[in-house]
Amino acid sequence: MESSSPIVSRSLKTASAKPSRRDFLRSSAKLSLGVGLGLSSLDWLAGCTQLADHRITPWDELAAKLQGSLLRPGMSSFVDLSTPWALQYASTVPQAIAQCRTEADVQTCIQWAKAHAMPLVARSGGHSYGGYSLTTGLMINVSALNSFSYDPNTGLATVGSGARNRTIFTECKPLNRAIPHGRCYEVGVAGLVLGGGIGFDMRLHGLTCDALRETRIVLADGRVLTCNENENTDLFWACRGAGGGNFGIHTSFTFETFPVSTVTTFNLVWTDRIVDTFAAIQSMTQSAPNVLGIKVSITAQKQAGASVLSLTILGHFVGSEADFRSLIAPILAVQKPAEQTIQVLPYWDGQQTISEEGKPEYAHERSRFVNGQLPDEAIQLIISQLKNWPGTSKAATWKYFLLGGQIDAQSPTDTAFVHRGYSMLSSTELEWTPADDAATLAKNEKWLSDFHNQMEAYTSPYCYQNFIDPSQDGYLQAYYGSNLPQLRAIKRKYDPENLFNYPQSIPV
Ligand SMILES: Cc1cc2nc3c(=O)[nH]c(=O)nc-3n(C[C@H](O)[C@H](O)[C@H](O)COP(=O)(O)OP(=O)(O)OC[C@H]3O[C@@H](n4cnc5c(N)ncnc54)[C@H](O)[C@@H]3O)c2cc1C
Repeated sequence: MESSSPIVSRSLKTASAKPSRRDFLRSSAKLSLGVGLGLSSLDWLAGCTQLADHRITPWDELAAKLQGSLLRPGMSSFVDLSTPWALQYASTVPQAIAQCRTEADVQTCIQWAKAHAMPLVARSGGHSYGGYSLTTGLMINVSALNSFSYDPNTGLATVGSGARNRTIFTECKPLNRAIPHGRCYEVGVAGLVLGGGIGFDMRLHGLTCDALRETRIVLADGRVLTCNENENTDLFWACRGAGGGNFGIHTSFTFETFPVSTVTTFNLVWTDRIVDTFAAIQSMTQSAPNVLGIKVSITAQKQAGASVLSLTILGHFVGSEADFRSLIAPILAVQKPAEQTIQVLPYWDGQQTISEEGKPEYAHERSRFVNGQLPDEAIQLIISQLKNWPGTSKAATWKYFLLGGQIDAQSPTDTAFVHRGYSMLSSTELEWTPADDAATLAKNEKWLSDFHNQMEAYTSPYCYQNFIDPSQDGYLQAYYGSNLPQLRAIKRKYDPENLFNYPQSIPV
């Protein structure tokens, strides 16, 4: 039986599914020597295999060069630092995790990994939907590089590449300033900014990557580059939308901040007349001012075998409660919500009421950018797909984030983030738990794939690179569109040997 704690079940699974080289050597030795040896001899042998293991891969040599720790499986914190957000990928376990404390640590790891032909990967917040910050080699974990500094003369804030949304929340609050940020505390700023960065501020202030003014990156050859509008401009262009893990390992990001005061936050839920209410919401959002940041979701959950749907709007409005209420009046005229919270709060207190932790779970999300408004038949399709959802022990959600506003102040080629000019980012999310068996999962995955494919009739073929999707066909075109040739040229220039790679990375 699976443990109810995914992290516990992960470490057990890891131990049985994929023995380490040391385990293998140790058990082979025991087998070949049979039962004739006493315990002390076996212990001695285990010591020898440990030595042999170190001689094959000189982990001690790397550990001695680092200011941070080098963790091997079994050591304290190893599981915490290696567990990905997407738990279905947790059976991939690194041979070691370098917990970098300095930029020089990152350089050392890259040089050491190259010298020993050890696969490597960068890990910041670990929230890749595809588990792409995992490796069976060396994980270069930058989460301890989470410093924050603010210059009041320029309004620029510099964060270490291990910072999370949580760091932004905590450090920006006393400054009464903000950076366009995501909604889940645990998501890494590195992954967020490198792939674009959507959030409730984007219509008023642009994407997280639009606020980026400078970044430092360690390249495959060990050099550290500063990238901004004047230096290494091609790489700076690519770092704003091409996604993490493609060109090198970033150590810091400098952002332009904006001042904040109060905000009206909202969370309204409907359980009746969902089709009509959704139509009214969509119509309101199509002409809403840029001060509205909103996510609209329709969620299915199973109750007594039937899919029960609920419709939610969540977000913030940078304006008065009265103005927000008049914006949503046509929606309330269709149907009163079953639950509603509307509050006027200081900006950062408000963000807390519409944010989530983002703890690890089992989930698969598939996205599509949308032009204009979804027609009635698309809404019917969404509702009928959710009603016919096969079901897991958790939920399935179709949602959209309202785009437009300042996102479109840049053209699709101004930065590597090509998806400008769309009205919505839609996505379907399937969640499950270890209680769901393989046959249930297979049925649900087929449902997700059919739903995603059918929606293409009403959407663009483009997908959000930060909702990275291991099952997306033609993913390079879907994530990067017309910017792909330029990205490949930049990849060839800065990482010609393709040191930084993962199943959906930009090829050389
Ligand atoms: C619960 C949840 C909520 C989310 N909310 C939002 C949201 O509100 N807005 C939004 O836009 N997206 C959101 N996302 C998507 C998120 O932006 C991406 O998953 C992002 O890649 C996560 O970054 P990370 O640093 O946490 O992940 P990681 O898994 O650590 O890294 C993601 C990728 O970047 C690489 N990478 C990590 N660190 C570095 C580095 N220092 N240098 C170079 N490459 C690096 C990794 O190797 C990997 O390929 C959410 C995801 C989850 C799971």
